[in-house]
Amino acid sequence: MAPTVLVIEDNPANMKLSAMLLERAGYTTLRAWSAQDGLALAREHVPHLVLMDIQLPGMDGLEATRILKADPLTRDIQVVALTAFAMKGEQERIREAGCDGYIAKPIDYKRFLAEIAQWLPVGEGAEE
Ligand code: MN
Repeated sequence: MAPTVLVIEDNPANMKLSAMLLERAGYTTLRAWSAQDGLALAREHVPHLVLMDIQLPGMDGLEATRILKADPLTRDIQVVALTAFAMKGEQERIREAGCDGYIAKPIDYKRFLAEIAQWLPVGEGAEE
C-alpha cells in the first residue's frame, strides 16, 4: 500500500507543488492548510509522514510537532519540517521541537522525493 503523507502548508503554490510531486510518485496525500486542521487529520488517519511547514498562521509548525510527538497515537509519525530558514539556530529549534528532519525551501523538485523517502521505512517507498 502506498505510504500516506500529510502535507500541512498554508502557501497554495507550495501545497500544489508538494502534493503534485508526491501523488505523481504514487503516495497518497492528505492536505491541511493550518496546524489545527493538520493535527485533526493526523489523529484521524495516522499517516506515515507529515510534511510540516514551519510558518503557519496561528499555531506554527514547531508547536504542532510538539503536540504530535507528545501524543502516543501520533508520536511515531515521521515529521519532516519544511523551512526557508535552514540556518543553524533554526535547525536546532526544529530538532528540539521533535521533528525527524527538514527540507529546505524552495523545494528542489529533483531531490524532493529522494529526501522524503529517507524518512519512510525501507520497502514502503512509493513506486517509481
Ligand atoms: Mn507557511
